[in-house]
Amino acid sequence: GMVTRPLLVTLLGATGSIGLSTLDVVARHPQRYQVFALTAFTRMADLHKLCLLHRPRYAVVAEEAQARVLQSELARDGVSTRVLVGEGGLCEVAAHPETDLVMAAIVGAAGLRPTLSAVQAGKRVLLANKEALVMSGGLFMQALRDSGAVLLPIDSEHNAIFQCLPRDYARGMAEVGVRRILLTASGGPFRELPAAALASVTPEQACAHPNWSMGRKISVDSASMMNKGLELIEACWLFDARPDQVEVVVHPQSVIHSMVDYVDGSVLAQLGNPDMRTPIAHALAWPERMDSGVSALDLLRIGRLDFQAPDEQRFPCLRLARQAAEAGGTSPAVLNAANEVAVDAFLDRRIRFTEIAGIIGDVLDREASVPARCLEDVLTADRQARALAGSWLDRHGR
Ligand code: NAD
Ligand code: MG
Repeated sequence: GMVTRPLLVTLLGATGSIGLSTLDVVARHPQRYQVFALTAFTRMADLHKLCLLHRPRYAVVAEEAQARVLQSELARDGVSTRVLVGEGGLCEVAAHPETDLVMAAIVGAAGLRPTLSAVQAGKRVLLANKEALVMSGGLFMQALRDSGAVLLPIDSEHNAIFQCLPRDYARGMAEVGVRRILLTASGGPFRELPAAALASVTPEQACAHPNWSMGRKISVDSASMMNKGLELIEACWLFDARPDQVEVVVHPQSVIHSMVDYVDGSVLAQLGNPDMRTPIAHALAWPERMDSGVSALDLLRIGRLDFQAPDEQRFPCLRLARQAAEAGGTSPAVLNAANEVAVDAFLDRRIRFTEIAGIIGDVLDREASVPARCLEDVLTADRQARALAGSWLDRHGR
């Protein structure tokens, strides 16, 4: 296509799994993309190296002390990157008038405000940070309509669904002839583990995903299937679907990334090797296509594609997420916050894997759903849910 100047890319969460995959794709197309801003929370040495390599206008870190060190190192290296600090810095680079495209790849609720800033500023927003949309759904989508920002899903399932829907899907599921969305799930590392064995699995086992290499939080979510629960809520907001229009199908090979079932019986699927560079390259180049570095799919080597029903007995997080989706209001924000606290506690070896769902269920029972009228409603629900999850940990001596 005709590209007059490179698009300037802000990468929120540059040092993470999605961040690094994005930089890999961007570096393959220097005529199309230039890095404008890189952000990181920890891993300052990695951020320093990325700044040397990509020479961004801005870098954003969490604390003043980190900023001073990085700023002086970069000055010594002769790099003119300006180092900003904290959530204010994140929101500034996300909404900066000169940035064209924002990859939202911070993990968890920490990404909410920066991602919303990019949306409100009317950017092309590539959404990996599903927690932001799960928390603030209706407000997020309203901000999108108000600003005219373009939202492209990076989650492989939602990117697949986007590719399988017609261009005018925003008219409504029924209007464009969609019967339901088939959201595929790998089933995670414990897909075949008996219920009794789940209580003693370790963080290392939970983080060893069979098909994808990802950050620790989403790896635990995949193991508990809360990831699929969050994705169910994400799909409802992105595609204006009801929870009962989204069916989860376990597909262990992760070759079909999701499907759309139309009223005439046609089912469209998007397939590919499980490599996040495919959805990233799709969203960066959309509506064009470009090389992502991902090898061609070899169906003969894969041989077969299997499908199973999800097991909500062993994976109650899926059921809890569906309940929160149906309750609406602040319930998804409560679900998400309780999950973030529980996953941290599991990674710190303070709770058992099976207690993750116990904590979330307890918090959902204690905190009533209220309408999410403004961002403050969402942030209040998030705070209260974290406090309730914390009190569960206290009560159980963790
Ligand atoms: P990760 O842990 O590898 O990286 C997270 C990034 O966010 C890092 O750059 C980190 O510095 C930054 N960060 C963490 N906490 C922060 C905070 N409090 N403030 C500011 N920055 C912070 O995670 P990931 O696997 O790259 O996932 C990122 C997001 O993308 C998540 O929402 C995840 O659900 C989603 N996602 C990831 C994958 C994948 O394959 N990794 C696939 C689909 C969706
Ligand atoms: Mg996914």
